Amino acid sequence: MRAIRGPFLDFSADPFYRDEEEAVRFISDGLLVIDGEKIADFGTFGELGGKYAALEIDHYPDRLILPGFVDTHVHYPQTEMIASYGEQLLEWLEKYTFPTELKFRDKAYARRIADTFLDLLLANGTTTAQVFTTTFPQSVDAFFEACTGRNICMIAGLTGIDRPGQAPPDYLDTADSFYAGSKDLIARWHRKGRNRYAITPRFALGSTREQLDCCGRLKAEHPDAWVNTHMSENDKEIALVAQHFPEASDYLNVYERAGIVGPKFTAGHSIHLSNDMFARMSRANASISFCPASNLFLGSGLFMLHKAKSAETPVLVGVGTDVGGGNTFSMLRTLNDAYEVAAMQAQKLSALKGLYLATLGGARALHLDHEIGSFDPGKFADLVVLDPRATRIMRLRSESARMNGQASPEAQAFDRMQHDAFGMMSLGDDRCVEATYVSGALLHARPGIGR
Ligand SMILES: [Zn+2]
Repeated sequence: MRAIRGPFLDFSADPFYRDEEEAVRFISDGLLVIDGEKIADFGTFGELGGKYAALEIDHYPDRLILPGFVDTHVHYPQTEMIASYGEQLLEWLEKYTFPTELKFRDKAYARRIADTFLDLLLANGTTTAQVFTTTFPQSVDAFFEACTGRNICMIAGLTGIDRPGQAPPDYLDTADSFYAGSKDLIARWHRKGRNRYAITPRFALGSTREQLDCCGRLKAEHPDAWVNTHMSENDKEIALVAQHFPEASDYLNVYERAGIVGPKFTAGHSIHLSNDMFARMSRANASISFCPASNLFLGSGLFMLHKAKSAETPVLVGVGTDVGGGNTFSMLRTLNDAYEVAAMQAQKLSALKGLYLATLGGARALHLDHEIGSFDPGKFADLVVLDPRATRIMRLRSESARMNGQASPEAQAFDRMQHDAFGMMSLGDDRCVEATYVSGALLHARPGIGR
């Protein structure tokens, strides 16, 4: 057993539907006790310090410790092609993405990138992600092998695209090869250790009706598996989907007809949704991954977070970096983009709401909140230690904060935490990440920390 001491922040409820101060749990001097890979105890240092006095303690005063970030939509094979210039979705896929992803036929190459990708996630404080691979089964094996070595919780799956003309011929799979490959990979990897499998049609435009029907069959045969895809990202894409699926009433209906929309179904982007689509996503208990960095970088549009999180049609929402459409692995930078996307629509995204989406909100969107997303004992000890004064400007901003001197010390500590949290959300990135723990083990420490 070991313990971590410092200021802790997590959520017990959704701050979009509850008073923020009620939804949050902030302990200015807390102790988290780890037994093996799980959280054994959690509370104030005052209450627990004596009981666990004999344990080795990693102490992080003046930091902010959060549950590890959950990136609900990211492409590991696109790591090296991040920041590709000048195109919108379909041209970007053709010009940059498929030529890069073809390299993942080589398993050794795939493994090298998978290791780099996971190291980058950890350096950014991300401890769980829902991950796209390629049409090559060996790229899925390489990824899960890299995850297994780190005992980290990742969701991934063979990423199907079989529609002629939508990718180079040597990148395409077929409905049959996708079905057989997925079955084989589910048997090999699903729930092996912390690995989780997602049936992954890349997007409706990339799949034939036959391949989408295979996804429905796979989901019926493996109801415990996740389903991960894209939806309504780009205007041109949406028009082509309508052309290829004339029988469907809209983009979501293509997936509904395949029988894959329900709990554990995540539709990345979901930018251009009608009220009716939000209502059907809500009723189905399906999830959206909001990918603001990507939506801005590829010029795709502004996601309507306020509609997804409305009281009338509440949809489970997590945040995704969508590397390489997104130009950052940092969930903090992605939250900054989320704030700006909301601001462009005259909406506000507070630091606490943002951090909720990046932690417990993401865990709930992925139906993993019984295992991760907060500091409740019994969950995995996946956490990130953030430094709110990591850069000169962040230090200046934090030190200059004016607190209400009349308030109680606890209220002042809470206000300071909120001020610093918004500073990290607006100005922060991997420089703020001091340490990342996965399954109780320290897997990343900022250089110079010397732990
Ligand atoms: Zn994507």
